[in-house]
Amino acid sequence: MNILLVEDDLDLGNGVRIALQDQGMAVVWVRRASDAARELEAGLCDLVLLDLGLPDGDGLLLLARLRRERQGLPVLILSARDTLDDRLRGLDGGADDYLVKPFMLAELLSRVRALVRRSYGVADGLVEVRGLSLHLPTRRVRVHDRPVELSRSEFELLCLLLKRVDRVVTRRFLQEQVLPGAQTNESNVLDVHMSNLRRKIGEGYVRTVRGVGYVIDQAAPPAGGRA
Ligand code: CA
Repeated sequence: MNILLVEDDLDLGNGVRIALQDQGMAVVWVRRASDAARELEAGLCDLVLLDLGLPDGDGLLLLARLRRERQGLPVLILSARDTLDDRLRGLDGGADDYLVKPFMLAELLSRVRALVRRSYGVADGLVEVRGLSLHLPTRRVRVHDRPVELSRSEFELLCLLLKRVDRVVTRRFLQEQVLPGAQTNESNVLDVHMSNLRRKIGEGYVRTVRGVGYVIDQAAPPAGGRA
């Protein structure tokens, strides 16, 4: 699980970062809205913890932009703004949850786990399909208990597919998420990552839907079918 923490308060940011890392989560901590925007463009985080009062802008503006570009990315607002209006503005602005400062770290962790569960449909961050498993908090991938080492792009591809089992994921979406900023004529880069991923996890997991994209099926493909 990659968490983007946007928080300009040094003590609070550090405390939250350590608490999340203790849970095995990878944390990128930024203190300015502009740095957060850059991280979001890179498209590699799975969840955002967002402070609203930032030195170079309002977190709500960042949230609005994020919602235009990445609908499904879970966002939890952490803010000292504690009126009902504030909270409604955050939630109506597209946040999935809102935690008022000061808060207990235990409650933050519990809400993060709940958001992961709701957003990715996994209770403990473990997704498993036919012996292929991916543990989001530690980013460990196994095929029938054999550990598999994936590059960052291969891991992100697998993650995007496993979070949407039985649903076709379009090439365009994968490209935008894994290779942001890439030109369409660079689409063979996606093919290279995909072919490396398939070689490492074994054939039979990622099925090509010609002209559309890829899917990982919960059930095994019929015998003789090209995976
Ligand atoms: Ca602040």
